[in-house]
Amino acid sequence: TAPPPTTTLGNDFARALPELALPWRADEFPAPDLLVLNEPLAAELGLDPAWLRGPEGVRLLVGNHVPEGATPVAQAYAGHQFGHYSPRLGDGRALLLGELTHTDGHPRDLHLKGSGRTPFSRGGDGLAAVGPMLREYVISEAMHALGIPTTRSLAVVATGRPVRRETALPGAVLARVARSHLRVGSFQYARATDDVDLLRRLADHAIARHHPGAAGADNPYLALFEAVVAAQASLVARWMLVGFIHGVMNTDNMTISGETIDYGPCAFLEAYDPATVYSSIDEGGRYAYGNQPLVAEWNLARLAEALLPLLADDQERAVAVAVEALGAFRPRYDAAWSAGMRAKLGLSATPADTADRTDAVVAPLVDDLLTLMRDNHVDHTSCHRRLGAAARGDTGPARELFLDLAGIDAWIARWRALGPDGDAMDRVNPVHIPRNHLVEEALTAATGGDRAPLERLLDAVTSPYDERPGFERYAEPAPADFGADYRTFCGT
Ligand code: AMP
Ligand code: MG
Ligand code: MG
Repeated sequence: TAPPPTTTLGNDFARALPELALPWRADEFPAPDLLVLNEPLAAELGLDPAWLRGPEGVRLLVGNHVPEGATPVAQAYAGHQFGHYSPRLGDGRALLLGELTHTDGHPRDLHLKGSGRTPFSRGGDGLAAVGPMLREYVISEAMHALGIPTTRSLAVVATGRPVRRETALPGAVLARVARSHLRVGSFQYARATDDVDLLRRLADHAIARHHPGAAGADNPYLALFEAVVAAQASLVARWMLVGFIHGVMNTDNMTISGETIDYGPCAFLEAYDPATVYSSIDEGGRYAYGNQPLVAEWNLARLAEALLPLLADDQERAVAVAVEALGAFRPRYDAAWSAGMRAKLGLSATPADTADRTDAVVAPLVDDLLTLMRDNHVDHTSCHRRLGAAARGDTGPARELFLDLAGIDAWIARWRALGPDGDAMDRVNPVHIPRNHLVEEALTAATGGDRAPLERLLDAVTSPYDERPGFERYAEPAPADFGADYRTFCGT
């Protein structure tokens, strides 16, 4: 194969924050087998897809070829897991290989998951199975196609090494790409060292990398916090609008960049119900669909606590400015969610028709639809998409989802009186999301060696708004015998 155009990996993070970066190497994987490669993303990163498919490229993707000058590291972080603080989490089965420059001019982390034990592994084996790594690949790429900020997936490589779970499963490494892997938990870790210089360097690194506008503010660290609050308010509103349930919103799984990270027990909502929980380990429902905005705000309060020594010289003043900045979360979230719901219902305010589409009219209309959807166990994605047709006069497909026909008919009449734009709705309400039954079907087939269903699912979810002939079953809700007791799993 031709030499790669670039395999230069930066080590800015490792150099700027050595206290958070433990130099480490991946396990040796003698028989790596590339299962899926994201060629467009490779190209955006200046990597030659043909080279990545070759032996040296595949070795790079499992951490066994380390380009000259690269410094792979396991990153240290702390975190609140289900509300309980762990002072030392860190990359227990992951490595940051280094930074690449995207064609947009901004750096990206190239990161591996499932690459073997590290000093942060505790009791874990440092490994990952094929199914869950393909799951992260499919769902993160679906999120990206939906326009939702997220880490990306570059490749999944089967390692040839079995992973012991309840049974022996084929092992895999996911190559993940992110604007960075800085988390709320990174700040908690730095704060817990009591080394304010480290905390300041971490904050400066985050400002330079993600929120450069903060550098020029009167109080740059307060501006950083405000920027993270804004990014997370917007992100979680996007999750809620599309019906995404992260499933494990621990503070170590919340980024400073505002990208969605760590696709473990996540899933998309089927029947609309704020109480929905799919994760098998979330027994109390802490991370239920409807709790996500509250949890995000709680996590941001933990970030504020970690930042306190940088926010002001005296503690009382630092707390006051942090509380005020955190107070922006709710209005920002509400504004993003309300604007998003208007768009989903084809009621985005335009100068000509704002008179009858005031918030006083639209807000109760939205609430009433959500109540009808919950009471009738209506599929979230199908309902919004089919309402696009209803806006154009074809109410049949939407009505079909409801048992309370009088209720939905009355609602549709109220809504249509406001003149919703069905074509605009079709541009924001996806027809293809990674539905749980389709994801399970594709992963089961792929784990058994048949990658065709996975390829087809990827094809569907990376064109989320296009109805296409041959893809009809990808647009349908789960069959009736699937779903009621659907559970997702973490750490597999
Ligand atoms: P998560 O909830 O998946 O984000 O992971 C929480 C913590 O557990 C992180 O520190 C991970 O690195 C660690 N972890 C998860 N799975 C494993 C594993 N199989 N081996 C070692 N560490 C793991
Ligand atoms: Mg994590
Ligand atoms: Mg995880």
